[in-house]
Amino acid sequence: MLRTISMLKSLKPCLNLCRFAHVIPEHLKGIAESKNPEFSAMIQYYFHNAAQIMEKDMIEYLGKYPQMKPEEKENRVAVILNMIGNTSCCLEINFPITKNDGKYEIITGYRAHHTYHRLPLKGGIRYAMDVDLDEVKALSYLMTFKTACVNVPFGGAKGGVRIDPKTYSARDLQRITRRYTTELLKRHMIGPGIDVPAPDYGTSAREMSWLADQYQKTFGYMDINALAIVTGKPIHNGGIRGREAATGKGVWKATDMFLNDEDWMKLVGLKTGWKNKTAIVQGFGNVGSNTAKFVHESGCKVIGIKEMDCSLFDQKGIDIPALIEYKNLKNTIKGFPKSKETTNDLLIEKCDILFPCATHKILNADNANKVQAKIISEGANGPTTPAADKILKEKNVLMIPDLFCNAGGVTASYFEYLKNINHVSFGKLSSKRDQRMIDELLNSITESLQEGGKCLKMRPNEALQELRDCNTEAEIVDYALQFVMETSAIGIMETANKYELCNDLRTAAYIWAIWKIFMTIESSGLSM
Ligand code: GLU
Repeated sequence: MLRTISMLKSLKPCLNLCRFAHVIPEHLKGIAESKNPEFSAMIQYYFHNAAQIMEKDMIEYLGKYPQMKPEEKENRVAVILNMIGNTSCCLEINFPITKNDGKYEIITGYRAHHTYHRLPLKGGIRYAMDVDLDEVKALSYLMTFKTACVNVPFGGAKGGVRIDPKTYSARDLQRITRRYTTELLKRHMIGPGIDVPAPDYGTSAREMSWLADQYQKTFGYMDINALAIVTGKPIHNGGIRGREAATGKGVWKATDMFLNDEDWMKLVGLKTGWKNKTAIVQGFGNVGSNTAKFVHESGCKVIGIKEMDCSLFDQKGIDIPALIEYKNLKNTIKGFPKSKETTNDLLIEKCDILFPCATHKILNADNANKVQAKIISEGANGPTTPAADKILKEKNVLMIPDLFCNAGGVTASYFEYLKNINHVSFGKLSSKRDQRMIDELLNSITESLQEGGKCLKMRPNEALQELRDCNTEAEIVDYALQFVMETSAIGIMETANKYELCNDLRTAAYIWAIWKIFMTIESSGLSM
């Protein structure tokens, strides 16, 4: 289906047409205009907005129960939507630690479970000063939608500890992580079949290996699946190759899917492909640096990097591999000798693609009007407020939404989880056999042809060669990750077409995800 800007204008009224009875709850009414909405209200708003559009189809779907009265169907849909619209469980814990310097401190931590329609639940643990109940709730909702969006069979959860990790020694961080783990374990909040954390803002493989070790040495000492309590672990401790770069790889792949689609590019007035395009990346942590790396490798010029302490700008393109090396060494991008620092706000600088890869609400009512990018790929969770979302859609910007765009991390987490519960790494048992099978298949064809008097030698074409040589864990994970992103992108594109949503990919992704959650809850009999 060809989309054009004139079509976008003519289709705008459709956005409000297909509404049924589901209403946006009272407390979310002002969110669409709010300058600084509560994070959880923001995600709830996006959910209810999509739910309104699809409610009619959900009720129609219940036509499979001929004996059900219309009010019963409406009621059933309303109950399910209300379940999805609320948090099932949220825990706040406070515990003391003795720091390295002998001082005591009370630490506050959280874990939120969204819905239990699929177990285990899944979601990261962040260490940051802005972590609170509202934030972990919001992020747990987003995890439910994210996992459903990419068909990864987990429910949504999120946790965090309100600390600035930069101000603690490694020993103190280990103490905090172990104690936080114990507190969650005591309350059955985490476990390989309950809720499986992963790294997030301010945490990494290091914290995950402390968490796994704490479980193995205490509550999980007899659990053969103990390593599956957490993902994002170091490779030598049950982790999987490709997990660390997976979120960035997924952000790249999500963008790539739209960037190579002629219709979508026509809609925003761009040519297809990465070449001759410019990008700005906000955040240069795990997600931002890996995104920048893959974008740079594709031939797109990364002209700006915005970090908290400094921004770099170079119209000719920043040397991303050198910058990654520099940051690994210095722990900051400040002082990078190959590019100039700038005080300009790079979020509103001219570029083709903007990658917000740090934190939430950075695109809001105050700056959305000034954004010049044509595509925004959300590497972070919740970077765009509903008010900004509206402004940017009207400006014809294509936003590739967080629940799809940054789902590469949890997808690779799923592979790690499978590796842990299967106790075997991908490719270990079958790679050699599969490779041999392809070679022998070609040999058999060659021999058969020779018997028939012909002397042709069968050779694998490029695609078959690629498949034959996809043997190692890293290659298999990368292949599977790209496949997951591809199929989800197609699902979202089709949903956008079906509901005539034009450039509103966020609503399309929510609808695409909510359908699956709805079906799971509906078919389980609603008795959880
Ligand atoms: N923290 C990541 C996210 O927000 C990964 C979660 C996971 O792997 O469980 O998607």
